[in-house]
Amino acid sequence: DVKSANKFEGFWRLSKLGVPVHKDPGKDFLGISDGLLEAIAKVLEFPVASMLPAEAFSVVRKSFDARKVLKEPKFVYIVDMDVNKLISLEPRAWDFISRLEPKAGLIEHLPHGKVSGDLISIIKDCKKISGNAVYRDDEHDISSVSKGSVTYKTSTKPRIAIVGSGPSGLFASLVLAELGANVTLIERGKPVEQRGRDIGALIVRRILQTESNFCFGEGGAGTWSDGKLVTRIGRNSDSVLAVMKTLVHFGAPEGILVDGKPHLGTDRLVPLLRNFRQHLQELGVTIEFGKRVDDLLIEEGNVFGVRVSDSRDNSRSNSQKWEYDAVVLAVGHSARDIYEMLLSHNVTLVPKDFAVQEALEWSNSLRYLGSLVGLRIEHPQQVINSIQYSALASEVRCGRGKVPVADYKLVKYVRDEDSDASAGASRSCYSFCMCPGGQVVLTSTNPSELCINGMSFSRRSSKWANAALVVNVSTKDFESLNFHGLLAGVEFQRELERKAAIMGGGNFVVPVQTVTDFLDSKLSATSVPPSSYRLGVKAAHLHELFPIHVTEALQRSISMFDEELPGFVSKEGLLHGVETRTSSPVQIPRSIDTFESTSLKGLYPIGEGAGYAGGIMSAAVDGMYAGFAVANAFELCHGGI
Ligand code: FAD
Repeated sequence: DVKSANKFEGFWRLSKLGVPVHKDPGKDFLGISDGLLEAIAKVLEFPVASMLPAEAFSVVRKSFDARKVLKEPKFVYIVDMDVNKLISLEPRAWDFISRLEPKAGLIEHLPHGKVSGDLISIIKDCKKISGNAVYRDDEHDISSVSKGSVTYKTSTKPRIAIVGSGPSGLFASLVLAELGANVTLIERGKPVEQRGRDIGALIVRRILQTESNFCFGEGGAGTWSDGKLVTRIGRNSDSVLAVMKTLVHFGAPEGILVDGKPHLGTDRLVPLLRNFRQHLQELGVTIEFGKRVDDLLIEEGNVFGVRVSDSRDNSRSNSQKWEYDAVVLAVGHSARDIYEMLLSHNVTLVPKDFAVQEALEWSNSLRYLGSLVGLRIEHPQQVINSIQYSALASEVRCGRGKVPVADYKLVKYVRDEDSDASAGASRSCYSFCMCPGGQVVLTSTNPSELCINGMSFSRRSSKWANAALVVNVSTKDFESLNFHGLLAGVEFQRELERKAAIMGGGNFVVPVQTVTDFLDSKLSATSVPPSSYRLGVKAAHLHELFPIHVTEALQRSISMFDEELPGFVSKEGLLHGVETRTSSPVQIPRSIDTFESTSLKGLYPIGEGAGYAGGIMSAAVDGMYAGFAVANAFELCHGGI
C-alpha cells in the first residue's frame, strides 16, 4: 500500500541513540562505529547489529551527555538512514523498515531526504533553476529601481556600502555580491594578518591600538574568540545550516555540521577569514580596511552615502564622502561612536530594557533582549572536569582525550532584596560564553576603559576554564549612577569599565577577587590564584564595582550555582572584572520584512550592534537575511532562502 511504500523513500532520522563511552571511539570520531550500529539495531529491532551496512547511515549530530542523572555518561547521536542504500546492501532490512513507525523526537521520516548546501551553491542553483535570483550585468541593468519612497534610474549595479566585517557584515556582503550588487566593505580595523600582530603587541607589550584589537578588525569581535557556533535560533534550520556549510566551504572542519556543541577556536577562524576575503574579492567586492565610517550622508530623509576617514586619523579632519545607494550598518556593539552619530541624526534608538520573564522564555537568546553586566570566573579546567565527569575526568587529557573538555551552563533567577516583584527588580544571572580550555582576554577599545571576554584555540587545551557570569540591568540601575536618556546603558557600561581600569591600577591589569572572598565581600590576599590573563591581575574590591543590587544578585546566584555544581565556589575560582560587552544596550528599530531602519531610508542596521543578534551564528544569519532583503529592494532577486 501507499503508506508502506512511502516508508522506502528518502531517509529515516533516528534520534537519541546513546552509545556508552567505553563503546565509542571518542569525541573526534564522526563515523558509524560498532557501538552506534548496536544502538541503531535496537531501534530497528534488527537482530544482528554487525549485519547492518554502515554505509547506509550518516551522523547528523553527536553530543556528549555526562549528566549526573544518567547511569553512565554516553555519546548521544542523531543518525540519518538512507533507505534505498540500506535495502540494496542488506535486503533483509526490508521487513524491519516496513514495521517502523514515526515516534515524536525519536524516529522521523524524511521522504524527500536532505537538501540545502552552502550559501554560494544555494544562490547559484537558485539562479540556474528559477532565474529568480538574477545577475544583471551593466549593459542590461538600466532599470527603474524603486526603493522606499524614492524611485530613480540606475545604469549600474546598485552600490551598497557594508560597514563592518564581523559575521553579519561578511554574510551580507557575500549574499549581495553573489547576487550581483556592487559591494564595498568598509572596516575600521585591519586584515587578520596585521590584526594578529597588533593583538600580539597588546598581549606582549601592552600596546592597545584603538582601531585594531579584540573587537575591531577583519572578522569582527568573534575572530579571537572561542569560536563557539552554538545558537538557539534553530540549530537545524535551513538558515543556520546554510551558514555552517558556508563556513565549511571556507575551510571550517566538516565536524562542525555534526558536533552537538560546535566550535572553531581562533586558530581556525583566521585562515577561514582569509579564504572568505579572497572569495569576496573574486566576486568584485572592494574591501577598504583601516577606514572608519564617521557619519552618514543624508538628504531628505534618505541615506546616500557615508563620510569616511582613515582610522589612524583620530582628528577625523581628512574625511571623504563616498556615495552609495544603500548603507548596511554592521558595526557591532563596541562602536559606541556610531550610536552617538545616529542619535545626532535623530535615528530611532531603543534602550533594551530587560524583561526578565521574556528573557527566561528565550533562554540563551538573552543577548537580543537586554543589557547584561558581570564578571568572568575562571577555574582550573581540571576542577570543572572533575565536577562534571567525576572518574571520567581523566579521559579529557587537555582536549586530546576521548571525551570533550567539560563545560557548564547555569542560570538562576533572583529578586532584589528590598523590592517586590511588581517593582520589576527581578534579575536573572547566567553563565555565558563559557570557554573550556581557554583564556581570559582584554576586549577594551580605549586605554582608559577595561573589559574582558574569553577565547580558546581549537584544541581547548589550556589548563583553565572561564565563563562570564552576568545579570540583567535596567534603567533603574543606570539612573542609580545618574545616567539618563537613550544611551544611558552605554554610559553605564563605560563607567563600569573605567572603574575596573582604576581598580586594576592601570596598564591593563585586571582586578580580581576569589569567588569565596567575593561572596564574603572582602579583599582577597595579594597572592591570588594564578590566572590565564596575560597582562597581570591584582586583588581588588570587585564587590564594590557595581551598584549594590547587581553585586547582591551575583552573590546570591553564585551561591546557588554551587548547589548545582558542588565545588564551583572554591578558593581556586577567580573572578575577573569587568564583563560589559555581552549584549548591545540599544536596538536600532528596522522593518521586519525589508530590514530598513524605521526612521531613516536607505539605512539597514544589522547584527549585534543593532540589537538583532547575539553571537557569531545569529549575527551571520542576520547578515545573510539582510543581504537578501537589500537585494530584494534593488530587484536583484525575489525572496530568499
Ligand atoms: P562584530 O563582530 O562586532 O563586527 C563589527 C565590525 O564592525 C568590527 O570588525 C568593527 O571593527 C567594525 N566597525 C565598527 N565601527 C565601524 C566604523 N565606524 N567603520 C568601519 N567599521 C566599523 N560569540 C559566539 O557566538 N561564540 C563565541 O565563542 C564568542 N566568543 C567571543 C569572544 C570574544 C573575545 C568576543 C569579543 C566576542 C565573542 N563572541 C562570541 C561574540 C561575537 O563575536 C559577536 O556576537 C559577533 O561577532 C557579532 O557580530 P557582528 O557582525 O554583529 O559585529
